[in-house]
Amino acid sequence: MADFDRTAYPLVINNESRPASTGETFASVNPATGEHLADIASAAPSDVDAAVAAARASFDGGGWARTNPQKRTRLLFKLADLLWANLDALARLEAREIGKAISSVKAEIMQGASELEFFAGAATKIRGETNAAPHGFVNYTHREAIGVCALIVPWNYPLMTTLRKLGPALAAGNTVVIKPASQSAMSAIVMAELAVEAGFPPGTINVITGAGSAIGGYLAAHPGVDKVSFTGSTEVGRHILDAVRHDFRRVSLELGGKSPALVFADADLDAAVPGAVWSIFYSAGQSCEARSRILVERPIYDDFVSRFAEQTARLRVGDPLNPKTQVGALISVAHRASVEAYVADGLAEGATLAVGGKRPDDPGLASGAFLMPTALADCSNGMRVAREEIFGPVACILPFEGEKEAIAVANDSIYGLAASLWTTDVARAHRVAGAIKSGVVTINQPFTVFPGTPFGGFKQSGWGREVSLDALDDFTELKSVLVYAGARPMDPFGLNG
Ligand code: NAP
Ligand code: MG
Repeated sequence: MADFDRTAYPLVINNESRPASTGETFASVNPATGEHLADIASAAPSDVDAAVAAARASFDGGGWARTNPQKRTRLLFKLADLLWANLDALARLEAREIGKAISSVKAEIMQGASELEFFAGAATKIRGETNAAPHGFVNYTHREAIGVCALIVPWNYPLMTTLRKLGPALAAGNTVVIKPASQSAMSAIVMAELAVEAGFPPGTINVITGAGSAIGGYLAAHPGVDKVSFTGSTEVGRHILDAVRHDFRRVSLELGGKSPALVFADADLDAAVPGAVWSIFYSAGQSCEARSRILVERPIYDDFVSRFAEQTARLRVGDPLNPKTQVGALISVAHRASVEAYVADGLAEGATLAVGGKRPDDPGLASGAFLMPTALADCSNGMRVAREEIFGPVACILPFEGEKEAIAVANDSIYGLAASLWTTDVARAHRVAGAIKSGVVTINQPFTVFPGTPFGGFKQSGWGREVSLDALDDFTELKSVLVYAGARPMDPFGLNG
């Protein structure tokens, strides 16, 4: 059984929980209270070597790569079952570690477990093709595992993101070394221990923890790693690319965003207003696909802004462990300072404060990294707040005139992760969906993906797709086998005379 009450969290290498070889640790802190939660093992490069070696041995030795797909299915379902069985404790652990509202964290872990089940089922359905070839030849393809995959994960959806990568990686027969974010390492460690309980062979799932700039970079550059699957900031994504480019190792990248919600004058505001509120303030705005730019058509602009502000002011901000809380703390006091600086910058550039912009009045929240959900109205798309990813509870609201301008402004971003359209005009919905340059478009729907629906970005939002069967493609190599099946020996130079 998993231990959720301990105050020391180990590395998990080759199915063994062990401290870092140096004995070093770093602190895990609850950002809602400042309370010290636990000490996490701080891996040395030699620990990373050991984790990669264990994953290599499981892969090369056939321990995992050659298990039959049915066995992979059963083990993945078993792990999912253990996650469901420990759902409440895992949610509590993660809510304390990242300060997010427990109702949100719980839903995310459920989503992660569901994605694991999706890929558990997919392990037995990996298919190849036969292709047209000249008479006397047969060509078929199959998809094979890539090898050892490094899964590098951010703090905003810790366990969900880990499971999102783990499912397709393992279903396809790869072995993994997981590097969780330092601010949210505990749930990945517990998950790996549950995987040992489920019966995964040694070396299949390894977890190393420690500073990204040190051991994350070391892992990404490790010659024993065949693929890096990274989710995080665009900036660190560039370091990952640098780490893999020399020897062309495989990589997929889920990066940042500045995703727009487009609210047309014909929208049903009873859906669009709460939808837009949810899609920026869920997870206190710390979502890669947060709809942080809200583009509103001029005739309904004033009405929208006042309804948006009124509904935002009613959000329940507070103790992450209270099941009624809707918006918890930010990941750290330092991160809050960065978000507050953006708000000040937006106001200095001419935006108007529609709601929020301050810390909660409740003295009980004073030692936590809280910030009231904030809306900056009358923004223009050239402002820094409208261009850069703030990654906090700050909505930028911009007026637009007509569909053409809405599309142009929506696409005027270095990012292209997601967009929402709010309209009752079906033709417009599909027309605009086709014109938006992003990997995901939701129509009359704030966001959320389901197991099976592709997720990933255009432009600087990344490379590759997750959540759907496309992720299996990204965790496999395509092999083409060409067979000569003619009656006479193959002799292209005519050497047989
Ligand atoms: P981050 O700073 O990029 O860190 C992500 C992960 O990379 C962490 O595990 C981090 O470890 C590690 N890391 C840091 N520097 C590294 C390096 N030089 N080499 C290798 N690994 C390194 O991102 P974050 O601050 O945790 O998360 C916020 C970002 O993630 C936002 O930009 C957000 O948009 C993005 N995100 C994208 C998606 C998506 O699906 N597109 C989903 C969620 C989040 P440490 O924690 O130890 O630094
Ligand atoms: Mg970071």
